[in-house]
Amino acid sequence: MTKAVLSIDFTRDFVASDGKLTAGRPAQAISEAMATVSQKAWEAGGYVFFMIDEHLEGDTHHPESQLFPPHNIRGTEGRFLYGPSKEFFEEHRESDRVFWMDKHYYSAFAGTMLDIYLRERKVDTLVLTGVLTDICVLHTAIDAYQKGYKIEIVTDAVASITDEQHQFALEHMKNVLGAQLLSSAELEF
Ligand code: ZN
Repeated sequence: MTKAVLSIDFTRDFVASDGKLTAGRPAQAISEAMATVSQKAWEAGGYVFFMIDEHLEGDTHHPESQLFPPHNIRGTEGRFLYGPSKEFFEEHRESDRVFWMDKHYYSAFAGTMLDIYLRERKVDTLVLTGVLTDICVLHTAIDAYQKGYKIEIVTDAVASITDEQHQFALEHMKNVLGAQLLSSAELEF
């Protein structure tokens, strides 16, 4: 079994108190666990993919422009990683096991090279971390399911705006997508 961690959207705009589309405190609370999971993968010889939302200034053609305020705009600090995940990425960004991919829709698979990179490396299991549990993490999990990957969700390294949304998505991923839910302490590589 070869695993890859997907570190999804843990940027200033989604996490910081003054972020443009922030989940605020629940997201800030998973900062340490997010980085711990990446570190565990790294030390075990696994892969870490930072899958990061990117939008263009004033792009009214993108459907999210009708749904959410502008966020994660290309070239802005809103796309900087938040917390110790930033240090992890800076330290390992030159490695051939740590990747950054811009994404433009909820799912990390939509329009990105992710699936090809995973298959080239014989990755069969994805460890999902990041925000929001019920939007980008969930949509990524649905695509992963349809592409045949095993899915693990690190429950203390995903977060949403409300506990209700968070719990709904966890239950859905477990019961409908067959995802394994486990804590960062239980996670093994
Ligand atoms: Zn977006």
